[in-house]
Amino acid sequence: MKPPILYWFRRDLRLQDNPALQKALEGGGPIIPVYIHDEAGEGEWKTGGASRWWLHHSLVSLRESLAKLNSRFIVRAGASGEVLEELCEETGAKAVYWNRRYEPAIIARDKQIKQSLRDLEIEGESFNGALLFEPHTIENKQGRPFQVFTPYWRHCLAKGISENTSARVKKLPHPNEWPKSESLDDLELLPLINWTDGFAENWEPGETGALKSLKVFVKSAVDEYESKRDFPHIVGTSQLSPYLHFGEISPQQIWSALQKRSEATGVFPTSKGEQVYLSEIGWREFAHHLLYHFPQTPHAPLRADYERFPWASDPDGAKLRAWQRGLTGYPIVDAGMRELWHTGWMHNRVRMIVASFLVKHLRLPWTLGAAWFWDTLVDADLASNTLGWQWTAGCGADAAPFFRIFAPVNQGEKFDKNGDYVRKWIPELAKLGSKYIQRPWEAPTEVLEAAEIELGNQYPHPIVDHTTARKEALAAFQQLRNSK
Ligand code: FAD
Repeated sequence: MKPPILYWFRRDLRLQDNPALQKALEGGGPIIPVYIHDEAGEGEWKTGGASRWWLHHSLVSLRESLAKLNSRFIVRAGASGEVLEELCEETGAKAVYWNRRYEPAIIARDKQIKQSLRDLEIEGESFNGALLFEPHTIENKQGRPFQVFTPYWRHCLAKGISENTSARVKKLPHPNEWPKSESLDDLELLPLINWTDGFAENWEPGETGALKSLKVFVKSAVDEYESKRDFPHIVGTSQLSPYLHFGEISPQQIWSALQKRSEATGVFPTSKGEQVYLSEIGWREFAHHLLYHFPQTPHAPLRADYERFPWASDPDGAKLRAWQRGLTGYPIVDAGMRELWHTGWMHNRVRMIVASFLVKHLRLPWTLGAAWFWDTLVDADLASNTLGWQWTAGCGADAAPFFRIFAPVNQGEKFDKNGDYVRKWIPELAKLGSKYIQRPWEAPTEVLEAAEIELGNQYPHPIVDHTTARKEALAAFQQLRNSK
């Protein structure tokens, strides 16, 4: 019998279109699927609370899928390199395969693991299972990384995207004897506080949930994506971000699902909606490109001069807390923050509004917002979160200029005109009519009374005045420019 191969699951929790798993199968020997819980190996970006919930349920789902193939899932906790070496020794495995990740700490760790395995004459090979275009394969004409999205994406599209995805694995040869496994519960991924009921109502982590979401989106929403994606009260986007982050679906699978639709017409993309949607997948690629080439960006602005930005002080943390809890007094901001807390996800338009509010109206550092998102998003992703926050703060690649300041009331009135989204997440305002729903402080007393709202009691007055905050933000920006 051939020696077993260790298949190391990481952020590729799927059995379909999984290049490293395919490679393991080609070896013809028994395959031992492994998951290693290695908190220290994640560096300073340990999996956040909401993502841990997702990870737990995704691993449960994967374990069930493997059991259906008469296979198992070996779970261990510890330093990845040491655990892999122990497992090779225990099982006699002579090869370990995995799909690559792109976070700086993980790249450094994996490099070391490859070398240590090589020293032991064990084959350690990694594959691309997460991106359409790996960052080291893309450069501009000057041989440098791109920093602007449009030319980046044009360049990628010109290179072409492989249509091929591999089929779901149907058989996994198993060893005669399985090594010991810890239980998933031993990893203690679920939160101790009662926080995640809303997550369970909204999500089905795992490969099956991913494929269902893709199917629904392709059938019912992708063609209208361009016109509907900005309205948070409707499901106009794919909600695939956590599935993509955990690798429960690959971007190639999404691409090829859309490409299949075009077979009848021969035109791809089939609609403007599809084209815009695919460019959002492109933004995910771009985020990884930036993180890989500028590994300092999760904690430092890409535009170094922004290091000197004069942030406001918040000595007792009251402003940050009001933002985190959805108690700023600006309904669209508060609705978003409560959606985040309740579901582990927030609509993209609202992410931009709440992020802008933190950075520009409260003038608190973008890193504080990024850290909160990191802990509360089920799709928390170092590349996309960093890009999103630096974009909003004006200090990243292809960023919105700092002086363009979202007015929360206008944003609310434009994208949640009737206030359906606000009413859903802020029950205190449920009886307020559309006219004042985005600015309750302007409502006459009798309107507030009729809606049973006492401002400052059930729902707060705005914690900052928009006009004053805007002026102060612009002054701070001017101060930064003068200091150059
Ligand atoms: P869709 O609109 O259906 O888009 C499809 C896919 O494209 C998404 O699932 C996502 O993988 C990718 N995508 C879409 N927009 C972006 C974008 N702007 N940047 C990168 N990828 C994108 N996305 C994350 O996945 N993780 C994060 O931690 C994250 N943090 C963010 C923080 C801020 C401040 C902002 C403004 C945006 C952030 N985003 C993040 C990007 C975006 O908001 C989400 O990807 C999107 O809302 C997910 O919903 P969806 O799957 O329905 O997206």
